[in-house]
Amino acid sequence: MGIESAIPVDGFMTTQLRKVINWARRSSLWPMPFATACCGIELMATASSRYDLARFGAEVMRFSPRQSDLLIVAGRVSIKTMPVLQRIYQQMTEPKWVISMGACASTGGVFDTYAVVQGVDQFIPVDVYVPGCPPRPEMLIEGVMAIQRYIDEEGLPPSGGKRVPLQIALQPTHQVAPQPLGLTVGAT
Ligand code: SF4
Repeated sequence: MGIESAIPVDGFMTTQLRKVINWARRSSLWPMPFATACCGIELMATASSRYDLARFGAEVMRFSPRQSDLLIVAGRVSIKTMPVLQRIYQQMTEPKWVISMGACASTGGVFDTYAVVQGVDQFIPVDVYVPGCPPRPEMLIEGVMAIQRYIDEEGLPPSGGKRVPLQIALQPTHQVAPQPLGLTVGAT
């Protein structure tokens, strides 16, 4: 990463242990993808080379909750499925974080029926709500960065008794950047 050339071989650095631990934690979020519907496609796109979630150190999708510390709920969750989601959340390693991706996960979306959970935060603590139907990959990345910023500043989630969710609601203000000319389909 170029750090070897920036620091003399026999040099040394001093810093706070807390900062090193926070840096390591925020740079190695391992997502547990709980994708039940169309939002899952955007979640897959976020990990693809175009959006490259790896730039944020969060591309290592794990399909075992014991190896994950970032639960991404992408899609609607039915009442029948909720116990599974709760079990997964409980089995994840501490400190752990939760992103509710899209309108369905956060509110039930258009599925205002008895069979669909009207917001997963009724059953598990949600740290970041990512708006959209579906949210673009940039919005999900913004959600990951919101957790990274929190870890940078605070380190660990609030502890002591019941887990207190951060409840960060992202605003849908992301402006899509214009495509580079060379990549625009049909450009001459
Ligand atoms: S929020 Fe929209 S895109 Fe996401 S699961 Fe619901 S209907 Fe599908």
